[in-house]
Amino acid sequence: MNKYIDGKAISSEIQETIKSKVEEYTAKGLRKPGLATLLVGNNPASQSYIRSKIKKSEYVGFNSFHKSLGEDASIEEVMKTIEEWNNSEEIDGILVQLPLPLNLAKYTNDIMLAIDPEKDVDGFHPYNIGLLVKGEPRFIPCTPRGIIELLKHEKIETTGKKAVIIGRSQIVGLPVGLLLLMKNDEYGNATVTYCHSRTKNLDEEIKQADILIAAIGKPQFVKSNMIKEGVTIIDVGINRIEDSNSKKGYRIVGDVDTEDVLPKVSRITPVPGGVGPMTITMLLENTLESYERKLSK
Ligand code: NDP
Repeated sequence: MNKYIDGKAISSEIQETIKSKVEEYTAKGLRKPGLATLLVGNNPASQSYIRSKIKKSEYVGFNSFHKSLGEDASIEEVMKTIEEWNNSEEIDGILVQLPLPLNLAKYTNDIMLAIDPEKDVDGFHPYNIGLLVKGEPRFIPCTPRGIIELLKHEKIETTGKKAVIIGRSQIVGLPVGLLLLMKNDEYGNATVTYCHSRTKNLDEEIKQADILIAAIGKPQFVKSNMIKEGVTIIDVGINRIEDSNSKKGYRIVGDVDTEDVLPKVSRITPVPGGVGPMTITMLLENTLESYERKLSK
C-alpha cells in the first residue's frame, strides 16, 4: 500500500468541485465569488504565495481583487483598503498576506480585527477563533482545515485516538488541536497533547501518538526512533535545506525525516505535495462558503 497521502491530488479534486459549483452559479446568472488579497512590501516568499493564491482563485472562476502596497505603506492606507473591501458587495473573502513589513508588524492584530469577520477567509479574526474554541467553527484557518480534510479524505479514524501536536502557533498547531478535540465523529474526539519548545520529555510524548502533527519549522526534526510503529504523520513543515545537486542550490523538506520514518509509519504526508497544496485549496473553499452563506441570506 502506498503510505503517502497525496495532498496534491486531493487538493486538485476539491478544486475541480469548487470550479464546477462556480460554473453552476454563474450559469444561473449569479455573480462570481470574489477574493481580495493585499500584499504589503517586497518579501519574495509572500509575493510567491500571493501569486499562487491569485492564480488558483482565477482557475476556479473567482473574481480576484488584488492590491500591492510598498514596503513603506502606512497603516491608514492598509485600513482604507480593508474598509473598501469590507463594504464591497462583490467581495466574499479578504486576505492580508502575513508577515507584514517591520513598520506595520506591530499593527498585525489591529489589521486582523479590521477585517469583517464574515469575510475573514484566513480565520484569524478573534471572533472566528472564538467560534472555533466554542466548537462552532465558521472560518477555519486554512492549514488546519487542510489537515482535517486530508484525514477525512483518507478515512483516518480520530475518535479515541491519541493525537500529539508539536507546535502551538495560532495559525497551525493550536487550531488543529482544537479541531481534533471537537465533539465530532468525522474528524474529532481525539485525545490531544500539545508539545512546544518547553515540553519536557518530548520523545516520550511523541512516542504515544497514533496521529502525529509536526508543525515546528525545524528541518527533518522527527526521526524514526522517536515514533511508535503504525503512527500516521502529518508533516506541516516547509524548510529549505542546502542541496548542491539541485539547480536552485536548495530543496524543500518537512519537519519529519521522511525516509527515516517511512518503514515505521502507517501513513504520512510528503513534503512537498502534502499539506502545502491543501492550504490554498482551503482558502478557496472558505471563500466559496462565504459566498454561499451570502446567497442563502
Ligand atoms: P511557528 O514558528 O509560529 O511555531 C513553531 C512551533 O514549534 C512553536 O510552538 C514552538 O514552540 C515549537 N517548537 C520550536 N522548536 C521546537 C522544539 N525543538 N521542540 C518542540 N517544539 C518546538 O511556526 P508555524 O506554526 O507558523 O509553522 C510551523 C511550520 O509549518 C513551518 O515550517 C512553516 O513553514 C510551516 N507551515 C506550513 C504551511 C503549509 O501550508 N504547509 C502553512 C504554515 C506553516 P514555542 O511556542 O514554545 O516557541
